[in-house]
Amino acid sequence: ESAQRLDPSLSKRRGAALGGQLSPLFYREPLQVVRAAGAWVHTADGRRYLDAYNNVPVVGHAHPAVVQAISRQAAVLNINSRYLHPNAVELAERLTASMPLGLDTCVFVNSGSEANDLAWRMARVVTGRSGVMVADLAYHGVSEATAAWSTNTYPPSARPAHVAVFDAPRLDADGQQPSGVEAGRRVRLAHDELRRAGQDVALLAVDSVFSSAGILTPTGRFMRGLQDETHALGGLFLADEVQAGFGRGGRNLWRFTDFGLTPDFVTLGKPMGNGHPIAALITRREIVEQFIAIDEFFSTFAGNPVSCVAALTVLDVIEQNGLVEQSGRIGAELSAGLADLAPRLHPAARVRGQGLMVGVEVPPEAPLTAADLAERLREQGVFVGTTGPGGTVLKIRPPLIWDQGHVAYFLKAFQAAALT
Ligand code: PMP
Repeated sequence: ESAQRLDPSLSKRRGAALGGQLSPLFYREPLQVVRAAGAWVHTADGRRYLDAYNNVPVVGHAHPAVVQAISRQAAVLNINSRYLHPNAVELAERLTASMPLGLDTCVFVNSGSEANDLAWRMARVVTGRSGVMVADLAYHGVSEATAAWSTNTYPPSARPAHVAVFDAPRLDADGQQPSGVEAGRRVRLAHDELRRAGQDVALLAVDSVFSSAGILTPTGRFMRGLQDETHALGGLFLADEVQAGFGRGGRNLWRFTDFGLTPDFVTLGKPMGNGHPIAALITRREIVEQFIAIDEFFSTFAGNPVSCVAALTVLDVIEQNGLVEQSGRIGAELSAGLADLAPRLHPAARVRGQGLMVGVEVPPEAPLTAADLAERLREQGVFVGTTGPGGTVLKIRPPLIWDQGHVAYFLKAFQAAALT
């Protein structure tokens, strides 16, 4: 019950007990959250906010089917995955069936970081190499290996020698997308860098939505250029779908399939259990076999019956409610509405995205920063985030259950917030 009441000492106690700036909070005046349902979050001061930020509750906060499935399974059995139980098998079958041919094997883990980390271990075993290529301003996780891939978390001077960077697909001065040939050139440049450091490429990892780079929408040609050049150099290719996956792009369940990619590894996480921690690595059987010939893998919580039923229910809800199509349709309306309003912010403000992953780039000349806008949107009753270089891009990434009413509410709030 104490969680329901506004507690003025909570923020100070949190800072003391949770390491201060190790775990910063959103907003200049942090919000104490109490409960949420669907696309709405309620705070202890009695207000409610439209959630335009949280992708984890992909089918909506506290979705009744997910809540019921988790509680039922928890009341019957939760146990480690060394015992035979149908939930993990069904989930692995459904996930691999949804992927391109060849991606036939699923390994459950507990977070996106762990999925990427395990792919890294496998890629090193299979290739016998230990270099990685990632985009600039990328984010891939918190483990030692994946933190090294997370080029947005440290200055270029701190980059380890086994990590090489390629330029993320930004538009050129003429507003053109970089081509497939250009993607190949960028991979070769990164490869040259690895070679100079005495390394060779085991893996190229890419976030299919370039979220931390500022939400970029590359072409299939560019993405296939990255993949094909990596393969030509003897490296493996990883599509990090931790943010992009589960229908966010509004075309397919997996964003990488929009680009016509056939990755060696796909990593899933965040929305997979609608808030319940579950993640997965999908790869080919032969990769796993080469790995287990010399190493092993077991994770206590991974693939337990409760986590798996959460993910199975998320897949059901997405399918039964046509949420992939809805994400595409509602996302297009949102982007169109924002494109109309963005010039009020500044003529150079740009809207980009695909489905319900939308960014508004706020130019330095604008009277408001993206962070100012996020604060003002909070005042207007809407949660958003910021991302991209120096946090200059407003990040809009709501649950996929958004409908036209949510878009209208959001655009009204944005219009008021952007007014200077
Ligand atoms: N990859 C991407 C693209 C991510 O956005 C994140 C989380 N922000 C991760 C990996 C790491 O996932 P987790 O926080 O679940 O470890």
